[in-house]
Amino acid sequence: MIKWLGNAGFEFQLGNTTLIVDPFLTRPRFVQTYFGRVAPDEAVLRKHIPRCDAILVTHAHFDHCMDAPAIALRTGARVHGSANTCRLTQAAGLPARQTHEIASGDSFDINNIRVSVLPAVHPWIPGYTFGKLRRKLEFPLRLRDYRMDACYSFLLEFEGTRILVWSSTQPDGAPRADLLTCRAVSSQRWYDTLLGQVQPNLVLPQHWDDTYQPLSNEPQPFFSAPRLAFPPIGRINLQDFAAKVHQADPNCKILVPDIFMPYRFEAL
Ligand SMILES: [Zn+2]
Repeated sequence: MIKWLGNAGFEFQLGNTTLIVDPFLTRPRFVQTYFGRVAPDEAVLRKHIPRCDAILVTHAHFDHCMDAPAIALRTGARVHGSANTCRLTQAAGLPARQTHEIASGDSFDINNIRVSVLPAVHPWIPGYTFGKLRRKLEFPLRLRDYRMDACYSFLLEFEGTRILVWSSTQPDGAPRADLLTCRAVSSQRWYDTLLGQVQPNLVLPQHWDDTYQPLSNEPQPFFSAPRLAFPPIGRINLQDFAAKVHQADPNCKILVPDIFMPYRFEAL
């Protein structure tokens, strides 16, 4: 079973294991995000994530990492992420034994799920910082406290099914997978390259919705990067994404999942 949690967040129910990638359900408003401090919304997390065994974090920016410690503290899940992710979650109160520092090239098992950690390239976005964490972290944190040290993609293998969570802005170096989730804004050539390598049966977009809107609203496409055209700022166009994926591989299915709707793999 796969469930989209908004932004880059996905829940996978694989056998008896609930594995979540990049949970971010708190979604503080724009002004709060850029000028205030951000704290997890426990009520929202409790409502939508009643149980969880493992959390994989692609990188330590707040919109991927900030809700992980609260979920792990309540459910007992273990958080797998970079050194910065582990330090941020420990500073939020998670015991060190519930964190697992990972690096590109690692492979490990979560129950009977094989997880492979792949390197990923992250885009530059104003306010989203890189590098070492501050020595003193004062909670709740500010956006700039969530510094990225490394970014990962993940390959999950379970009973012969391969799921690729592709976080990178680069399309090269991707392994074969049955199910692929990737960014919704790229060139035709980008999708040609990525899908040519992965050869998936199904593609889902990720990180396409406006995360400044609370989850009580219907997800809306996020603003896309400024461009030399009119209007200079548009919103991410999922029809354009679907058309590019279709052109890259006409046999590949595309799913834009409803938020929090569980989809059984057999039905996809
Ligand atoms: Zn980021």
